[in-house]
Amino acid sequence: CGIVGYIGKRKAYPILIKGLKRLEYRGYDSAGVAIISDDQQLNVYKTKGKVSDLENFVTQKDISGTIGIAHTRWATHGEPCSANAHPHYSSSEKLALIHNGIIENYAVLKEKLQAKGYIFKSSTDTEVLVQLIEYMKVTNQVSLLTAVQLALGEVIGAYAIAILDKEHPDEIIAARKSSPLVVGIGENEFFLASDATPIVEYTDKVVYLEDGEIAVLNLGKELKVVNLSNVEMIPEIKKVELN
Ligand code: GLU
Repeated sequence: CGIVGYIGKRKAYPILIKGLKRLEYRGYDSAGVAIISDDQQLNVYKTKGKVSDLENFVTQKDISGTIGIAHTRWATHGEPCSANAHPHYSSSEKLALIHNGIIENYAVLKEKLQAKGYIFKSSTDTEVLVQLIEYMKVTNQVSLLTAVQLALGEVIGAYAIAILDKEHPDEIIAARKSSPLVVGIGENEFFLASDATPIVEYTDKVVYLEDGEIAVLNLGKELKVVNLSNVEMIPEIKKVELN
């Protein structure tokens, strides 16, 4: 299972696919991508099977865009099928999220959200995350970052996540707890991955996120790292070997 993300000036799709291939050794049953296209659509493509099956699936589809996230899934909750593959949309389809890990209290959260009218399209534990983040954002009228902090405050479990917001095509938010996540810092571009292998061909500057940290990858800004209580952390930038 693995996570890849890109935001910058290059086409996101080839970087995401190449990154997923570098993470294939970790094992998976499904693969998917979410990209905000050049005309500001939030496109999600996902399928059961290999990364090569995903590539076949997207032929003829709009894969334009310079910001995206990609995922390989190792099913823990819900059978391997395209509906359960990540990314998952929120109900409004304005947010898309990928997740590695397990949300232990997903059933309780799902019931609460369903009672408020949220419709679920998968049988994964993951879908509650994206729905809960949307719920927090809409009901409290807060930023995506604040919504992520509020939502993760209610979650019990392990996660590495990355989120796209159609209304903010210049930002990826990522967070981790008990699942690895690495940010690569380039020139006016950021990379994200489960380990450094998809990143090292583009930059040697990486930040290994710590448990409880949230990274804000914002185009044209410095990497921002905060915790769930919004205390700003000073990211330790490490140099890795370029290959
Ligand atoms: N628990 C999630 C699912 O089953 C994520 C699995 C993973 O880490 O790939 O969809």
